[in-house]
Amino acid sequence: MGQQIRQLAAEIPLIDNHCHGTINHEIERDQYEIYATEGDWLPRNGLSVLDEQFGVLTRALVAPLLGLKKHCSPDEYWTRRREIGQTALAEKLLPLTGIETFIVDTGFKSDNILTPDQLAAVGNGRAVEIVRLETAAERMITSSSATAFSADYAKYLAEESKDAVGFKSIIAYRYGLDFDPEKPSESEVAAAAAEWIAEIEATDKIRLSHPVLLRHVLWEAVSHKKPIQFHVGFGDSDINLHRCDPTQMTEFLRRTVDSGTNIMLLHCYPFIREAGYLAHVFPHVFLDTGAAINYTGPEHASLIRHSVEMAPFGKVLFSSDAFGLPELYYCGAAIWRQAIGDIMQGWVDSDAMGESDARKYLTWMASENAHRAYKL
Ligand SMILES: [Zn+2]
Repeated sequence: MGQQIRQLAAEIPLIDNHCHGTINHEIERDQYEIYATEGDWLPRNGLSVLDEQFGVLTRALVAPLLGLKKHCSPDEYWTRRREIGQTALAEKLLPLTGIETFIVDTGFKSDNILTPDQLAAVGNGRAVEIVRLETAAERMITSSSATAFSADYAKYLAEESKDAVGFKSIIAYRYGLDFDPEKPSESEVAAAAAEWIAEIEATDKIRLSHPVLLRHVLWEAVSHKKPIQFHVGFGDSDINLHRCDPTQMTEFLRRTVDSGTNIMLLHCYPFIREAGYLAHVFPHVFLDTGAAINYTGPEHASLIRHSVEMAPFGKVLFSSDAFGLPELYYCGAAIWRQAIGDIMQGWVDSDAMGESDARKYLTWMASENAHRAYKL
């Protein structure tokens, strides 16, 4: 049996369709334990994330690159990692991912992580930016007013996104994907903005969760005709997972088919099949399995297999959704390469797919689909 497709998958340059910077300072073990999980609490009863799926993956794939035995113990891994340090580890691992373009979401904890330009320099690639819709509103609200909010946000978003390749919506976190698909009216937006401003004054906290404003910022983004990434499914303890099934936003997808805006469904676990169905029926819907694959560790291949069941090969993208830890980048890229190579080599070996088709579709998924969707 040939190994050509496996080989291609191992070497092909990637576009990471959704990621964040790596941490820009040294970290202690407690911080590592939090960054290496979507959970918001340290493991209890003496347990460590290095004994969870992603930790097993890290000790299998990264340990040998640090001069350790494959599958070394959690403590051996941490001791060596601490000696090397966060910055040197990023410089070592990022270039090994083979990611040529990083599409970076800068809207989350941006003071703690490398900027897109710094990330590109460390990773030996280039970086482009995604603007987070809710963060943009939170940055401008204190210099706006209820009646001016709509116009001020339009101006602010246009300015913030002039060099960006797309947007990100976290309406799944702040409300749910079962949001009202109707574009809110100007008077509804002004009334909602007044409520939000009153809430900020009362609580001294700026966090956009008003459902009318979440819909407003989304529709404002649609008017730009740039791709909008949606957080879908799996995430930290802030989400209600049952409201993050992407089929709950089917009516919004119907209404945006001809808007000129592509909808990028991120992560998708455990709704990868639902996302695949949506990508199959709607011409402007794409998906990836970022984040989720790292956290399923040795079992990641089953997720990637689901992502290529029904979604057209021209609609599936690679992403790591790495945040903070260089290990998330390295493992995310390595296991996607491994799994997609194994899956597609299997199709070729069983004569279900021709080898030239397999090469073509693999190239699409590794980078061409991102090129097309984001007009890079
Ligand atoms: Zn992310």
